[in-house]
Amino acid sequence: MAPRMNAEIYPASPQRGLSQADAGERLREHGPNSLPEGRPPSLASVFLRQFLSPLIYILLAAALVSIALSDVRDAIFIGIVLLLNGIIGTVQEFSAGRAAAALRSLEQPHATVIRDGLQREIDARDLVPGDLVLLEAGNRVPADVRLHSAENLQCDESLLTGESLPVSKKIGEIEEKGEGTRAFAGTMVTRGRGRGVVSATGASTEIGKIAEMIATRSISRPPLMVRLDRFSRTIAITVGVAIAALFAVGLLRGMGYHDLFLMSVGLAVAAIPEGLPVAISIALAIGMRRMARSNVIVRRMAAIEALGSCTIVATDKTGTLTMNELTVTEVRLPDGTIVTFETGEDLEACALRSPHVGDERAGERAAELLKAAVLPNEALLRREVDGWKGMGDTVDVALLAAARKGGLAKENVPEHDRLIGRIPYEPDLKYAASFHQAEEDVRIFVKGAPETLIDMASRMDRDGEAVAIDRDSLLAQKEELAARGLRVLAFAEGRIARQPNGDYGHGHLVDLVFLGLAGMQDPLRPGVTEAIAACAGAGIEVAMVTGDDPRTASAIARDAGIPFEDDQVVTGHAVRDAEAKGESALDDLTRRARIYARVEPAQKLAIVLSLARNGHFVAVTGDGVNDAPALKHAHVGVAMGRKGTDVAKESADIIVTDDNFASIVAGIREGRVSYANIRKVVFLLVSTGAAEMVLFLLAIPLGMPLPLTAVQLLWLNLVTNGVQDVALAAEGAEGDELSYPPRSPREPIFNRVMLRRVLHSTIVMGVGGFGVFWWLLANGHTESEARNLLLLLFVLFENVQTFNSRSEHHSIFRQGLVRNPFLVVGVVGVQALHIAAMHVPVLSDTLGIAPVSPAQWSVLLLIAASLIVVMEIEKRWDKRMTKLP
Ligand code: ADP
Ligand code: MG
Repeated sequence: MAPRMNAEIYPASPQRGLSQADAGERLREHGPNSLPEGRPPSLASVFLRQFLSPLIYILLAAALVSIALSDVRDAIFIGIVLLLNGIIGTVQEFSAGRAAAALRSLEQPHATVIRDGLQREIDARDLVPGDLVLLEAGNRVPADVRLHSAENLQCDESLLTGESLPVSKKIGEIEEKGEGTRAFAGTMVTRGRGRGVVSATGASTEIGKIAEMIATRSISRPPLMVRLDRFSRTIAITVGVAIAALFAVGLLRGMGYHDLFLMSVGLAVAAIPEGLPVAISIALAIGMRRMARSNVIVRRMAAIEALGSCTIVATDKTGTLTMNELTVTEVRLPDGTIVTFETGEDLEACALRSPHVGDERAGERAAELLKAAVLPNEALLRREVDGWKGMGDTVDVALLAAARKGGLAKENVPEHDRLIGRIPYEPDLKYAASFHQAEEDVRIFVKGAPETLIDMASRMDRDGEAVAIDRDSLLAQKEELAARGLRVLAFAEGRIARQPNGDYGHGHLVDLVFLGLAGMQDPLRPGVTEAIAACAGAGIEVAMVTGDDPRTASAIARDAGIPFEDDQVVTGHAVRDAEAKGESALDDLTRRARIYARVEPAQKLAIVLSLARNGHFVAVTGDGVNDAPALKHAHVGVAMGRKGTDVAKESADIIVTDDNFASIVAGIREGRVSYANIRKVVFLLVSTGAAEMVLFLLAIPLGMPLPLTAVQLLWLNLVTNGVQDVALAAEGAEGDELSYPPRSPREPIFNRVMLRRVLHSTIVMGVGGFGVFWWLLANGHTESEARNLLLLLFVLFENVQTFNSRSEHHSIFRQGLVRNPFLVVGVVGVQALHIAAMHVPVLSDTLGIAPVSPAQWSVLLLIAASLIVVMEIEKRWDKRMTKLP
């Protein structure tokens, strides 16, 4: 069958689009608009991967040696432990993979379509051939689209063509295979707007045809994991050297090869914190899940630890600190006349008032200005059963709502039908304009930032007359509105001659007539003031970076409680001047400035980099196309989930689904919890491993028998600690995470405090254990009796140390048991398991253990408890030295 053009098969009404019913049918016929996903690794391969580790090789070798020496029971025990380890690892990896997939689905892109004549947002997967779609700067083209119209439309097609410069899309210029101008699925709209019909979806799209060639997203390993791998390797080498030395000493002491070999394996297992990678994955996975609950989606695992270390948050204003629910409260006409707007649910029942002219004239005088508010306006406002619903940019929606109050609906403005050109709003332009066919010329309406429009205008309106513009009085009016925290927009109109080529653009926006200003209120988000106060307590600074006016920005910052002085408010101009003078001038500026107003999105990157040079660990928020570089280069890029464009989300490390500043702070808190949990696990594993090492380093050179057998060492490390470290990784927040200054990102996990504590607890456990072993042997106990009690003592030490590890700063007795029931159950369970093993013949034979009397058990528990005393003194001491709360 000859290929037919899709566009012919699927004609869509250019105004109404498909009907919902038709779309449903096509969806069944063509399937969802998604690319086939790479198949996840099979269970078997994940399972096998668990055995690819040096530690496992050591254990396998040990098992083989045991078999060769006909010690089959040891070999079986090692085999079972290996198997258990493999199963736990597989389950862990699988559930982590599922969690990641679930989180990814929250990032699902949307598409804006027109169906049944109504514009709506749908899941991009539900898009079908023939759908009428709207394209907008910042978003991915959701399917292959044959364009009907394009305004300043540019697409980044590097994904398909490798060409890094954006491609301009003009209707009628590029004809491809008779299909007209197309925009391709997966490419990014970098500028402008477009509208067209979907010609192909899913695997039939151009990108679908080459989908396999495009590398799937690889999940990078968090730097923390990389650092820990290196740490484990260093330990392995140190341990190797120590073991070799012990081996030599043992040989000189006349120990057999078999015993020596098994001892070496046991010690290697003891000293290498093999539980660490698993425990860390768990800590991070739990952190990810908890963050998702606080409306923070983590796109890169590394962001969890990074969030916990950030020292400054450079935040947007609109939508992040404020609700992004704008209401026009008043309009200022150029002669100073104030027109206020009533507020209420039913827009058409709200009236306009003016204290100067009579109320009946207020609406009339504001009408021309409101026209300029609705014509270059891309939003939609319609009455639905449960009230008025807006769609699109919130500034635009607010303007439409204000116009409604003045009795003006966009559809009913006569000029609306004679639209011949548009300049859509982009943050870097700071304005939007529309061009309309009039009787003999063309009318222009512009709305945008006051400074921009005051520059474009040469005259201003005075009750219907255009008089010479008084820029100073207009700027003063703007200042007055902005100082009240209102967002201020300006309006202007103009006339030009018709252009024969039909091209209208920026160059035509001269000699405009200024129509007036509108002040919009955007209330602070609830919880923002508290979040900013929490930042102050946590040693995190807050900077505001906004495209809005410095007065508005300062007023909002003051309301939100961001601490700043007047000289800490700077504008984009100052930033540009400093940049021109060089890096150090900019660094001087950013060292102090905290409110950055009238900043162009492209300047965000320079600000972020400069803050970083000043020693800050920077989290920056963003939503637009132009925010992408800053999001990518900041230590933590935070994209807004609702307002954010696809470009911003894909450049970010984390996405805040409710756009709320308070959620970012909640994320920081969870980041600190995760990092603290990792430290807790490291402390537990390293301190107990080192203690076992010390035990042997004392016993072997002194010519004493092996204090613990290889199998007993495996039991301690893979079974008892294996349960406890996972429980520790799941610790909840201690509650004071936001009362400490951030940790330096350069500080190693193994910092001075940790090193000292490991040293002290190693002495207690290692030397204490050795003393007990020595005393038992000296008092007539057999070797195996002594080992039985020593092993129990070490299990108790590990139990106690798990509780000690629950808080780095606070007393063990202040840690509520219910905060982590899993841990309590785990520790008690491990102890119970050990006691049970003493009574189960197979286990007790293999482990070489036997039941102990309650009296013996109690004495050993008392000895183990000495570890609590030492660690409590240690914590007290550290607290006094650092004056922590
Ligand atoms: P913010 O940092 O508060 O989000 P923006 O970068 O979104 O500020 O906006 C910068 C300026 O652009 C605003 O102060 C306003 O003057 C202008 N502006 C914002 N939205 C629109 C719009 N929809 N149409 C015209 N101008 C706008
Ligand atoms: Mg904005």
